Amino acid sequence: MSEKPTWNETLHNGFGQYFSVDQPLYRDKTDHQDLVIFENAAFGRIMALDGVVQTTERDEFIYHEMMAHVPILAHGAAKSVLIIGGGDGGMLREVTRHPGVESITMVEIDAGVVSFCQQYLPNHSAGAYADPRFTLVIDDGVNFVTQTQQKFDVIISDCTDPIGPGESLFTSEFYAGCKNALHPGGIFVAQNGVCFLQQDEAVTSHRKLSHYFSDVSFYQAAVPTYYGGIMTFAWASDNPALRELDLPTLTSRFAAAGLRCRYYNPAIHLGSFALPQYLLDALAPAAE
Ligand code: SAM
Repeated sequence: MSEKPTWNETLHNGFGQYFSVDQPLYRDKTDHQDLVIFENAAFGRIMALDGVVQTTERDEFIYHEMMAHVPILAHGAAKSVLIIGGGDGGMLREVTRHPGVESITMVEIDAGVVSFCQQYLPNHSAGAYADPRFTLVIDDGVNFVTQTQQKFDVIISDCTDPIGPGESLFTSEFYAGCKNALHPGGIFVAQNGVCFLQQDEAVTSHRKLSHYFSDVSFYQAAVPTYYGGIMTFAWASDNPALRELDLPTLTSRFAAAGLRCRYYNPAIHLGSFALPQYLLDALAPAAE
């Protein structure tokens, strides 16, 4: 029997993960990236951009629940949410689950990712694009946040890694634009890689964000296909109390939102802000 083809991730040099391609579904160069979507027996449908796994049907809920519900429930009264990137639609799906959110804007650089993920990963967006609160903007996220007059309560940078088009979403210009686009009391979160393997990225983001926000840290979750340990999510606001809400407060907000999740719960929310000592040491001022 002929060996199944495999797809090899190329995020790191010298080591990585592979998946058998049990059923190729789509492969093409969009205007910005090399997009591939294929079936894999272990993880369901997998989407990768420029050789890096972006999302899989089996474990996407962990990442999308943590990046949507932690900032929105910590804020407590978020009405306007901005998603940067998010082309697979999973983040939008989770944000639409909050009845208190009145407007959701998504700024995605690559229209091809939106359309092909709607077609081949329908369970990610699960109809969320039809939500009347939703507006899609096709643009580079840094252009949007540096030019918009709109203000948001939560900004979620659901971006690729800092290579290719994603690079601009890890710049001081982008972070300054996000700070300017937030209402007072607003929260910024961003995917910031697996800190054991991409520690420099976390240290750099922390340093840059600290120029614009008075409280900068990370929270974390282990997402199997973002392999190599915990994925770190950058967290920035001007109120440290937003990171230190007590369990009863989070529990009542979670109940009021009427959410049923597969990974997120208030205890996981609180615990996610506990960080490994090696990261804390790397982030310590003397270490920079
Ligand atoms: N969950 C993934 C992760 O953790 O890496 C992110 C998934 S989502 C598919 C990443 C999205 O960011 C892609 O749709 C990509 O097109 C978009 N993107 C990359 N650079 C961007 C930019 N400068 N502005 C807006 N969107 C961007």
